[in-house]
Amino acid sequence: MSKLFQNYKRTAIEFVKAEGNYLFDAEGKKYLDFSTGIGVTNLGFHPQVKKALEAQAERIWHTPNLYQNSLQEEVAEKLIGNRDYLAFFCNSGAEANEAAIKIARKATGKQEIITFKDSFHGRTFGSMSATGQDKIKKGFGDGVPNFLYADYNDLSSVKKLSSEKTAAVMLELVQGESGVQPAEADFVTALAAFCQEEDILLIVDEVQTGMGRTGKLYSFEHYGIEPDIFTLAKGLANGVPVGAMLGKTKLSVAFDYGSHGSTFGGNKLAMAAASASLTVLKEEGFLEKALTNGTYLQNQLKSMLAGNPKVTQVRGLGYMIGIETTEDLGQLVAAARAKGLIVLTAGSNVIRLLPPLTLTKAELDQGIAILEEVFA
Ligand code: PLP
Repeated sequence: MSKLFQNYKRTAIEFVKAEGNYLFDAEGKKYLDFSTGIGVTNLGFHPQVKKALEAQAERIWHTPNLYQNSLQEEVAEKLIGNRDYLAFFCNSGAEANEAAIKIARKATGKQEIITFKDSFHGRTFGSMSATGQDKIKKGFGDGVPNFLYADYNDLSSVKKLSSEKTAAVMLELVQGESGVQPAEADFVTALAAFCQEEDILLIVDEVQTGMGRTGKLYSFEHYGIEPDIFTLAKGLANGVPVGAMLGKTKLSVAFDYGSHGSTFGGNKLAMAAASASLTVLKEEGFLEKALTNGTYLQNQLKSMLAGNPKVTQVRGLGYMIGIETTEDLGQLVAAARAKGLIVLTAGSNVIRLLPPLTLTKAELDQGIAILEEVFA
């Protein structure tokens, strides 16, 4: 009998080794990974990240946040570039969103935050309350008050919920967990303009969409907007636990000595891995190639699955792809795995693909061929 709480529907397989974009189970079976540990090892098991972790472990792996941490400064520089943000480091996506909620409330002196139906922002009380899905909150009693849920892609619904009490609007630009739903471009630009006019902060949850996942460093770059606050985690350190909240410099009045903190946040090992990951992501042409390859994957799947009675839609952005299906998701995942491909699900009817951005053309075509067999 397992001594673990049964939060996850685990299969019997354990991955014991990884090389590049492949995973190996205890029996030595090799799998092509189109899941990246749920959007985490975005660069695969990359040698530069491994080298950085080993080198950092040789020197020192943790210091308290009471001392200078030049690695945090280095990662913040790489994340911010010439934009006007400051960074706060924590350990997960939920924590990054907690920091976003806290700074938005304190900076505005207002409490209401509008999020969206079918959104997912995490499992802590604040981030769970921000989440627009009842199934995530069931049985946990009262959540954090003052979250209101608008219809995704519908500005009039946001307008109806907003008032002088609204501190912020918070959204994913591709809703990941609920089924890989990209936001419409017109909606996003109009929402950003509305928030600016009304002095409402715009928070983009980039926990799943960030770090190159959609073929840009941040998904908001696709939409030509700049949020007041955005959050990162998952791919930030390519597999070492980390989260980050980035907010416009003007918000620094709300986060000063003692306002917020984290013992482990921005830990040296996480920062060494994040810095190495960002070096790879920022290599010339890397993200452009990821966008081209992700779009190629999506287009190949679209044409291959067009007319397939089991598939209702293929959609996504860059390397974040959903295949909406009428088939049983568990059976599809198992069929792909039997053929050596690891895929994910999202919502109740979507096979979700979050492949490594480092896939070669041959690996892309290998994955496409397996998916063709799975949906045949
Ligand atoms: N926000 C989004 C958009 C996510 O997809 C997730 C996790 O799937 C989270 C927040 C929560 O991140 P974490 O599991 O690291 O707390």
